[in-house]
Amino acid sequence: MDMTPKTMRNEKLGAKVVKALESRHFGAYYCATKEEGLKKALELIPEGSTVAWGGCMTAQQIGLMDAIHSGGYRLIDRDAALPEEKAAVMRQALLADCFIAGANAISEDGEIVNVDGNGNRVAAIAYGPERVIIVAGINKVARDLDSAVVRARTVAAPINKQRFGGTAPCLKTGSCGNCKTEDCICCQILTTRVCRPAGRIQVVLIGEELGF
Ligand code: SF4
Repeated sequence: MDMTPKTMRNEKLGAKVVKALESRHFGAYYCATKEEGLKKALELIPEGSTVAWGGCMTAQQIGLMDAIHSGGYRLIDRDAALPEEKAAVMRQALLADCFIAGANAISEDGEIVNVDGNGNRVAAIAYGPERVIIVAGINKVARDLDSAVVRARTVAAPINKQRFGGTAPCLKTGSCGNCKTEDCICCQILTTRVCRPAGRIQVVLIGEELGF
């Protein structure tokens, strides 16, 4: 890979964030490219595992979701469930061997911020699945925890909301209106500041701009 000022900076910042995540007992890996990120994520998911996921646009972008669907895993797939079974499948996901998720922001000192509507993703990150794989692009890194929360709430959420209908103000304006609408996707805000048990959450940080 040709080194540019951007890739050089990303590599240095990635190394700093990996060290910070490790100090908080997360497993953490910097991968310069999507391809390297996919390889690393697959190494972390043993074949035969039950696998579930939520809020994982970046995992999709690196090809991880395709690989999971065509590999030797037992999937807990709410998208394949009948409408009346979806809620039960989402609850089953909390008992998966492995849960794949994204991050809305990661502070340079290693705290991970996620914002959810239903709360299924933040629930799984906090407790339940034996292992959590977080796949995130370097664009998710924010200067500190305050900036990470601001990023999650004012950048990631208004973009994410565009995929859904509803009445939340960000749908019209593109800017967070700090709403309390029934279709609000910012009902739960999780900061994971230390990983316990150690190594339960593995972060694959990719040196490309991915997700939102
Ligand atoms: S307007 Fe509501 S749904 Fe949209 S980003 Fe803000 S809190 Fe979230």
